Amino acid sequence: MIELNDVSKLFRYKGNVIKAVDKVNLSVDRNEMVAIMGPSGSGKTTLLNIIGGIYSPTKGEYFFNNNLVSGSETEMAQFRNRNIGFILQNLALIKRKDIMYNISLPLIYARMNKEVIRKKVTDISKYLGIYDKLDMYPHMLSGGECQRAAIARAIINNPKVILADEPTSSLDSDMKSEIMSLLTDLNKKGITIIIATHDEYVSNICNRIIRINKGVIR
Ligand code: ADP
Ligand code: MG
Repeated sequence: MIELNDVSKLFRYKGNVIKAVDKVNLSVDRNEMVAIMGPSGSGKTTLLNIIGGIYSPTKGEYFFNNNLVSGSETEMAQFRNRNIGFILQNLALIKRKDIMYNISLPLIYARMNKEVIRKKVTDISKYLGIYDKLDMYPHMLSGGECQRAAIARAIINNPKVILADEPTSSLDSDMKSEIMSLLTDLNKKGITIIIATHDEYVSNICNRIIRINKGVIR
């Protein structure tokens, strides 16, 4: 499903070239739940951003379901909308917007109509147990509820792949096991899960561990 061939991502910064991802070859199948592990600065976030269609590789090719992922910013946005759900490191809920709006964002980008959006957000927030929080703002929710709102936003588009960037950092063990059981559930429903993490608790639950160091996978 996901196929990276000799993919590199270089950043130029103050005259230096940083090889954030260096000649990576990687394939991930549809039913997998994969952990990407490596120290801070090893390229985990950059790799997720390539898989998620946020960054284009500097070199190499990325295929998703045998289609080359590349194109204009509009085409890349369409690719993300159709295929990818992101759970970001700091959750990235919008503070000045209510939970309803936060969860709806991918559907608003996809220009779905309001009635359809309301129905989808209702269903998903019931599934995740935050239906009664929809008109509240992020600061009114507990950490676990914010986490579930972020997951709701990631899955509301029926993505084929969920990319989670250190989703358990700064969570207590109850919240960790909750988010991991949600992700495991989604994986059983056929969603491919890729998680960048330092956390052995997380990697032990995954079916495969990919180790990255200085942008290189071994
Ligand atoms: P990780 O997520 O494993 O901590 P990152 O993928 O964020 O690692 O970063 C890998 C390397 O690339 C680091 O050295 C980082 O400083 C560098 N890097 C990441 N993004 C950028 C950027 N936009 N511009 C310059 N350097 C970057
Ligand atoms: Mg990172």
